[in-house]
Amino acid sequence: MGLDKYIEMLKTKGLKVTQHRLEIMKYLDNNRTHPTLDQVYLYMKEKFPSISKMTVYNVIDSLISSRIINSMRFVNSTELHVDFDNKTHFHFVCGKCGEIYDLDSDLDLQELLKKEGHEAEDYNVNIYGTCGKCAKK
Ligand SMILES: [Zn+2]
Ligand SMILES: [Zn+2]
Repeated sequence: MGLDKYIEMLKTKGLKVTQHRLEIMKYLDNNRTHPTLDQVYLYMKEKFPSISKMTVYNVIDSLISSRIINSMRFVNSTELHVDFDNKTHFHFVCGKCGEIYDLDSDLDLQELLKKEGHEAEDYNVNIYGTCGKCAKK
């Protein structure tokens, strides 16, 4: 059913394969909109009506701490957003529609940091402005 890759990822990280974990991973993989924890909870609630917010948060937490998924905060909200793409990439946040876009960039910040002698473990680059769709209006 196409769940194999998620099962494989969980096993690689030494996490138990559970239905909740698989469901959340599949949801995030198919929805690259950087949803908030609440949005993930609402989705899960439809599938598993008796699931608690705490359970969903704990599942997400385990996926974040094992680095299966990425999490980030943006300046315009206090909420934690989650992203299935855990490779380093840039985000463009539109101040008008609130949409969060993934940006591919050839810019290698690691190289830049290395030149300065800094050792980066991780970085997040968020760019704020007006997206192409909103700018056209
Ligand atoms: Zn926009
Ligand atoms: Zn992203």
